[in-house]
Amino acid sequence: MTAVLPPGTPTVQDDHLISTSPASGDEAGRVPVAAAVDVERAVERARAAGQWWAGLGFTGRRERLLRWRRLLAQRMEELAGLMHAEGGKPVADALVEIVTAVEHVDWAARNARRVLGPRRVRSRLVLAEFSAHLEYQPHGVVGVIGPWNYPVFTPIGSIAYALAAGNAVVFKPSEYTPVVGQWLVDSFAEVVPEHSVLTAVHGLGDVGAALCRAGVDKLAFTGSTATAKKVMAACAESLTPVLLEAGGKDAMIVDADADLDAAAEACVWGAMTNAGQTCIGIERAYAVEPVFDAFVDKVVERAGRLTVGPEDADIGPITMPSQLDVIRRHIEDAVARGGRAVLGGPDAVKPPYAYPTVLVGVPEEAAAVREETFGPTLTVNRVRTVDEALARANALPYGLGGSVFGQQHAVAIARRLRSGMASVNSTLTFAGMSTLPFGGVGESGFGRIHGADGLREFARAKAVTRRRGRSLLPSTTFERTPADVARLVKAVKLLYGR
Ligand code: NDP
Repeated sequence: MTAVLPPGTPTVQDDHLISTSPASGDEAGRVPVAAAVDVERAVERARAAGQWWAGLGFTGRRERLLRWRRLLAQRMEELAGLMHAEGGKPVADALVEIVTAVEHVDWAARNARRVLGPRRVRSRLVLAEFSAHLEYQPHGVVGVIGPWNYPVFTPIGSIAYALAAGNAVVFKPSEYTPVVGQWLVDSFAEVVPEHSVLTAVHGLGDVGAALCRAGVDKLAFTGSTATAKKVMAACAESLTPVLLEAGGKDAMIVDADADLDAAAEACVWGAMTNAGQTCIGIERAYAVEPVFDAFVDKVVERAGRLTVGPEDADIGPITMPSQLDVIRRHIEDAVARGGRAVLGGPDAVKPPYAYPTVLVGVPEEAAAVREETFGPTLTVNRVRTVDEALARANALPYGLGGSVFGQQHAVAIARRLRSGMASVNSTLTFAGMSTLPFGGVGESGFGRIHGADGLREFARAKAVTRRRGRSLLPSTTFERTPADVARLVKAVKLLYGR
């Protein structure tokens, strides 16, 4: 007897990956599965396409990318419908996700030349007879491996920036969202029909592993920390550089002078949007003693109002059915260790849904505080001081984002969070700010997407010097004389020795 798989579980049939809705089990679409040799061929084709694409220059690429942006904006309802059908994401959330992706395509297209283009840089006195030139050249072919939780925003954070920098991209979408991934590739092909500048390879994890070994010049991975380690190990075999955007366990700190209504509203959004399946989601909150009780009441009141269901609800189904067990385990463990569910609890997990759960007084060793839960759950713990909140927030190996609510010291507290990003008096905002880099520290990975750093991540610095005159202090030649060296030493002592 074959086991009945829960709705939303991807299956492979006749060399095709079949994607289904986690809410209804209805088929969202099917895509061909790539064998390792197909992945290699895709990278070869991309290499040729990439040369053509790089040859378009910044102006030509900007024009194509802006056309793609226009197309994404015009068809956002169609794409959002697909995201809903495939991953269960509420349509409103899908639309907001697409808006942020469109913003990133626009910024990357408009700013690539300014950030990466050729420029003169100043020379220094010791090499005054040389001019210096810097530019950032594309790597060639970039492999992008994406997760399912933000199947548009997340891969586009790498894809748009890699394309704007002049690379071709071979994209492996998550097995849970291949149809949305293919839609992105097909829509790009409408504005760039000449060559396969952006292609997709589909399948399970082994296809991602094959992409790491298929000769790409850089690999941009977004997904769990465990898989990030495998990706890095595979890429190490060929010294392929990697960008790793991995998991998180972001904390919010609520200081005594915070606007508690605003803090509670943003906390519930940060913790429960997309059913909590957000790498930069708020999974833990630390509120200082004087405001703790009021903050918890306001969070519970707001989270308790959220609707859960397949259509037009605030919270949709959990996309990856196996995650439901993780969410249940974290809640049960928190309660068994003495935590108290002030909303929801172990019974809040009703497949394929998880209802909002707010836990207080959960020991810091509990899985609900230490591990990524990826559900609409939140722990809120009482702290005496902001320093204690920071010590607890910074105690985990993860360090992706975070949030601080307060007035007088809020920015200073945000700067002390051990994370790549932080929002003050809001949550998740940094992700949509295309001028800012996005990425983590520690087990949340390294490298940056978005912003100028995100463009530079997909290009390599090329440095050129050019002689513009005779050397006054010749030193890097066998024709130098002892007097030349003595003059050099004297000049350096004058310049730097004081
Ligand atoms: P996974 O790590 O399970 O998968 C990520 C991608 O890697 C998928 O496309 C997956 O393919 C692929 N993959 C699986 N095994 C391998 C392998 N051995 N070699 C190469 N690729 C492989 O993550 P999820 O898809 O479950 O995504 C959720 C995770 O992503 C969470 O931890 C979340 O925090 C993190 N994330 C991080 C973000 C960030 O910017 N830092 C943003 C969004 C999510 P398949 O699906 O076919 O198994």
